[in-house]
Amino acid sequence: MKRIVLATFACGLATAQVWSQGQPAAPPAQGPQIETRKVDGTDNVYMFRNQNSQAMFIVTSEGVMATDPVGYGRPQGGAQYLAEIRKITNQPIRYVIYSHHHFDHIAGGGAFKEAGARVIAHRKAKERLEVLKDPNTILPDETVDTRRTITLGGTALELTYVGPNHSDSALVMRLPKERIVFVVDLLPVGQLPGRGMIDFYPLEAEQSIKQILAMDWERLIPGHPGVGGRLGTKKDALDQLTFLQDASAAVKAEAQKGRCWEPVESELKRPKYVSWPGYEANLQFTLRRYCALWGRGT
Ligand SMILES: [Zn+2]
Repeated sequence: MKRIVLATFACGLATAQVWSQGQPAAPPAQGPQIETRKVDGTDNVYMFRNQNSQAMFIVTSEGVMATDPVGYGRPQGGAQYLAEIRKITNQPIRYVIYSHHHFDHIAGGGAFKEAGARVIAHRKAKERLEVLKDPNTILPDETVDTRRTITLGGTALELTYVGPNHSDSALVMRLPKERIVFVVDLLPVGQLPGRGMIDFYPLEAEQSIKQILAMDWERLIPGHPGVGGRLGTKKDALDQLTFLQDASAAVKAEAQKGRCWEPVESELKRPKYVSWPGYEANLQFTLRRYCALWGRGT
């Protein structure tokens, strides 16, 4: 049994940093609300962007593997995504794979379901969605526990669970031949994590990033556009790990002196990262999460 799908979003000017959710602060959106482009150097790998979220899809001779519908707050988002795919191919949409269970990435899958796609997600994503019953989010048809590879029309897409990190339900999607990974929210490209760190697992996230770094890949498609719209590299992933470790160590020292939540959340600075987009608006959310860990044990 093989079937799947996935996607993401974000945008804005000065306010972008404020409203982006589980995601990094977005750089100002360039161009139209919706944009689809083929990933350079590939035969059949595409990126679909709706405002400040984006997804990957793969077109094959036996159908399409799509990911995250990225339709949060945009009732037509799923249909618009499907229409973009239809400009490229009439092949059936076989799978929609969810990157994780957060609605800003996976709402809007109804159009894909109606088109016959099977929705695939991590087991934890389905468990959470069954409880939350979001009216705009389609429940998965199939789940993955630790690993599954879907092969369609000669293209393999590997789905791997690397433990809890940005949520407890994320799948890393890797195209072995193309040496591309699609990782959503855990690894912002060149910018700070966003405010959506409520269910972030700080210690486990470091282990997840190390596992991802050990995989064979060259380019990373993020769930929100990287700075300048670029794809990520292993250096970006390592930079993100270093940022998290730096913030964790700094907050730990302060927390053990009784300085969490305040003044750490308001006053602690990480000057090395001041040039990263999202620094001013979003550092507080990272500090808060580590204050919870080191100041409360949660
Ligand atoms: Zn998220």
